[in-house]
Amino acid sequence: MEDSIQVAVKYLRQTKHRVVALTGAGISAESGIPTFRGKEGYWRGRSPMQLASLEGFCENPQLVWEWYLDRRKKLEGCQPNAGHFALAALEKLLPGFALVTQNVDGLHHNAGSKQLVELHGNIRRTHCLGCAYLEDPGRQEKAGNFRCPHCGDYLRPSVVWFGESLPERAWDQAFSWAQEADVFLVIGTSAVVYPAASLIPLAKETGAKIIEINVEETAASDVADVSLLGTSSVMIPRLVMALEE
Ligand code: NAD
Ligand code: ZN
Repeated sequence: MEDSIQVAVKYLRQTKHRVVALTGAGISAESGIPTFRGKEGYWRGRSPMQLASLEGFCENPQLVWEWYLDRRKKLEGCQPNAGHFALAALEKLLPGFALVTQNVDGLHHNAGSKQLVELHGNIRRTHCLGCAYLEDPGRQEKAGNFRCPHCGDYLRPSVVWFGESLPERAWDQAFSWAQEADVFLVIGTSAVVYPAASLIPLAKETGAKIIEINVEETAASDVADVSLLGTSSVMIPRLVMALEE
C-alpha cells in the first residue's frame, strides 16, 4: 500500500497544470449518508423512478417531497469527514486543483472546497418548475403546499433526476477540467452513473494519470494507473501527508 501511495504522490508532484478529483457517494458514507447501492433502504422500498424522476414527481409531489424533506433533515446532523477536509487541503496545496462531485449533500462546500462543481445539484436547494424562483437553503417544514410564491407552479428539490440533463454550466466546467487534468482522482464512486463517469476515460484519453480511491474494485479500476484500496477518510489524508513530506 505504501508503494501505491508513493506512486500516487509521484504523479501529483509531476503535475504541471491541473489535478481534478471526481467524488461519489462513498466519500460521504463515513459522514453517515447511505450510498446509492447500500442496503440501508435508501429508496425506502419505492422505486427510484417514483422518487427521483420528473414523472414520479408529477404523479405524487407529496410523496417525493416527504422523501426529500426526510433526507434534508437527516443531513442536518451530518458533518464533513476527514476525506472531505483532506480534499479542501489538497486545493490549498496544489494550484489548479478542482473538484467535481456527484453528491448532492453539500459536504464538500462545508469542508471548505472552493473550486467545486456539483454535477447533480444540491439537495438543500429548491427551485420552481415554472420560473426562475430559487430558495437556498430550501424550506424544511412539512410537505403539502410546495407552490412557488411568484407563479404558483410546483417547487422541486434542485437535484438532477433520472432522465434529466446535467446543469449545462456545471457539465461544461467539469468537462474542460477533465480535459486539462494531468492527474484525475476517482474517489468513492462506482463509476456507473453517466455522463459523470465518462469524465474518467475523457481525462485518461487526454493524458491524465488516474488514481482511484475506493474500498473495492469498480468500473473505473481497469483504467486506473494506481488504486488505493481503503476508505476515503483514511486514504486521502494519507495521500496529503505523503505529499507534504
Ligand atoms: P454509488 O453508491 O453507486 O457508489 C458508492 C461507491 O463508494 C462504491 O464504489 C463503494 O465501494 C464506495 N465506497 C463506499 N464507502 C466508501 C468509503 N468509506 N470510502 C471510499 N469508497 C467508499 O455512488 P455514486 O457512484 O456516487 O453514484 C450514485 C448516485 O447517487 C450519484 O449520482 C449521486 O448523485 C447520488 N447519491 C448521492 C449521495 C450524496 O450526496 N451523499 C448519496 C447517495 C447517492
Ligand atoms: Zn415560479
